[in-house]
Amino acid sequence: ARKFFVGGNWKCNGTVAEVNKIVNVLNDADVPSADVVEVVVSPPFVFLPQVKATLRSDFAVSAQNSWVKKGGAYTGEVSAEMLVNLEIPWVILGHSERRSLLKESNEFVSDKVAYALSQGLKVIACIGESLAQREAGETMTVVSEQTRAIADKITDWTNVVLAYEPVWAIGTGKVATPAQAQEVHASLRTWLASNVSSGVAESVRIIYGGSVNGANCRELAAQPDVDGFLVGGASLKPEFVDIIRSAS
Ligand code: 13P
Repeated sequence: ARKFFVGGNWKCNGTVAEVNKIVNVLNDADVPSADVVEVVVSPPFVFLPQVKATLRSDFAVSAQNSWVKKGGAYTGEVSAEMLVNLEIPWVILGHSERRSLLKESNEFVSDKVAYALSQGLKVIACIGESLAQREAGETMTVVSEQTRAIADKITDWTNVVLAYEPVWAIGTGKVATPAQAQEVHASLRTWLASNVSSGVAESVRIIYGGSVNGANCRELAAQPDVDGFLVGGASLKPEFVDIIRSAS
C-alpha cells in the first residue's frame, strides 16, 4: 500500500513571525501517525533552517528548487549538496510556476530530478497541463511527455513522488473534480506500467495539487489513485491540518 503524502508548498510567502506561527499550529495539531501519513512542508530557502529547527520531528521539510548540477559559479542558485548538508530531505522540482515563469523545460526539470536523486534527496516532481492543453484534449500527451523526460533519466523511483497539478487549478479556486483527478492519476499509473515497470506503477505515489482545501480534500482523497496532495494557499493556514487528517 502507498502511504498517504501531504505536502505544503509555501511558495514565496512568509516572514520569520508568520513562519513561527504556522510551525506552532502544525506542532500542536492532532494528526494521524507517521505510519498513516507522511507530511512534508516546503518553506522558501531562507526559512529552511528555522523550520527544520522548530518543526515537530514526525514532519519533514522540503526545498522548492535545487540547481541542476554540482554547485559553483551559479549566482542565486542553491545546490542539492547544500540541501543534503543541511539535512533537508526533500525538494520540489518542476513546479508549473517555474516551468512557465522561469522557462524550465522538461529536459531541464528531468536533469534536476536526476541530479537531486543522485545526491540523496527525495523529489516531489510536478507535472500538469494548462487549460488550453486540456481543452485541446492533450492532457495525457502533456503529462506523459513530462513524465517520460524524467523516466529517461532515472531508473530508481523509490524516492520520487509524482505531483499532478493541472495549471488551471493552481491558485484559481478551480479544483479538479475527484473524477478528473482520478482519471489522470490512473492513466499515469497505466503509462508507468507500460513505460517503466509494473512495480513502479504500483508503488509510486501520485499526489494531486491545485486548489486543495479543507472542504474538498476528503472526496479527492477517497479516489483510489490519489495518494495525497501538494497544497499551496491552504498550506499557510490552520486548514492544512484538516487536509493532513483526510489521510484517514
Ligand atoms: P494552490 O493550492 O494554491 O492552488 O497551489 C497548488 C500548488 O501549486 C502546490 O504546489
